[in-house]
Parts: sequence; C-alpha cells; structure tokens
Amino acid sequence: MSIQQNIEEIRQHIPPHVSLVCVSKFHPNEAIEEAYGSGERIFGESKVQEMCGKHETLPADISWHFIGHLQTNKIKYIVPFVSLIHGVDSYKLLVEINKHAAKVGKTVNCLLQIHIAREEKKFGFSADELIEMLGVGEWKDLKNIQLCGLMGMATYTDNLEQIRSEFRGLKSLFDQVKTFYFASETSFCELSMGMSDDYKIAIEEGSTLVRIGSSIFGIRQYN
Ligand SMILES: *Cc1c(COP(=O)(O)O)cnc(C)c1O
Repeated sequence: MSIQQNIEEIRQHIPPHVSLVCVSKFHPNEAIEEAYGSGERIFGESKVQEMCGKHETLPADISWHFIGHLQTNKIKYIVPFVSLIHGVDSYKLLVEINKHAAKVGKTVNCLLQIHIAREEKKFGFSADELIEMLGVGEWKDLKNIQLCGLMGMATYTDNLEQIRSEFRGLKSLFDQVKTFYFASETSFCELSMGMSDDYKIAIEEGSTLVRIGSSIFGIRQYN
C-alpha cells in the first residue's frame, strides 16, 4: 500500500477531535511530501538535527512536533520553529526550554511526559512526581512555556487490556491535574497517546493526539 492509501485507511479510524501526528523520523523528504499531498500537516520527529534539516527544505506550513528525548544542549535549534514538544520529562528541561524561548521572544508549547508503562523506567514523570512539581508551582513563573497537556507511551506488549488500563490511568491523571491546576487554562487540553499498534485503544480512552509512524510510512531503516 502507498503512503496515501495508508493515511486514508488510518483516517477512517480518527475522529475529528483527534489530531494525527505523522511520525516521519528516519524517512526521507519524499515520504513526507507524499503525506503532505494527502493533506497532512503535522509531522513528528525524534532527532533534532533531522527535524531541523527537514524543516529547512519542506513547506513552511508544516507543524513540526518533537517527540523524542530532548537534550538541553540542542533545545536552541528547535525553539524557533517547533509547534509542540511532546516529551518534556523533567522540570530542569522545562526551565531550559523557557530560557531559550525567552531569548527569541517565543512561547513554546509543551506536553509533560508521564511514565505509564510497566517496563523499567526510561523517561517521564511518575504521577507523584508530576503532582509534586505542579504543587510546588514554580512552573507558573516560566512565562515562555505553555503547558498544553500530557503525553505517555504504553508498555510494549500484546496484552491489550494492560495497554488499555495504562491509557485509562493517564487519562484519569490528566483529568485530575486539569481540574486542580489548569481549570481556567483552555490550552491545557491535549493528551498525546497512541502509536501504530495501539492508537485505536488510545482514542477510545481519550487521546487527542495520536503519533503514528510505521503504519503510514512503513518500517524504519535505522542505520
Ligand atoms: C517512533 C515513535 C512513534 C511512532 O511509532 P510507530 O509504532 O511507528 O507508530 C510514536 N511516538 C514516539 C514517542 C516515537 O518515538
């Protein structure tokens, strides 16, 4: 199936209130152009250098979402053009993004990454860490950051009930912090969850942003 056919198929399962992030990491510009031709405008990348190169050469109306692990020394390269950073996994990183955003007079949209998988901890806040960080409240002074919601990745498993319960837990955490800390903030409204293998479950459990790569572009060639 072509990229356009894949998108058509996937689009049938995505309701209008959910946005599709086409995860184009490790795929060339031609693949992105094909998806762009189908009307897609949001693309997700996980490497700073790769995203900057694609941003320079592809149409200016693309929204670039950074979905990888962001290192502090690379923040400055993406701040001028990034639409949303999905994986902010520490308060320190938030402070650094704010610093660079202030330098160029921008407000950067961020999602806080929550560790929901049962696997060994890689990246992300635990629910307790999130609530503690929000409770301390220093984040309110970061005037060049807009917190737009939460992001999470389910365990890599065939157990669909486990995946569903992890997504459900993240949605419930989202509702809780929305009520306590962001009740009057309309921009805190995004829940980024769901990838190629689990996006349908994620949508059923309240996702507003699905990040889909291989089901659109095929297998990635890592080299
Ligand atoms: C690569 C990646 C995706 C896309 O994964 P697929 O299984 O190819 O859809 C989604 N989210 C994150 C954070 C990723 O790194």
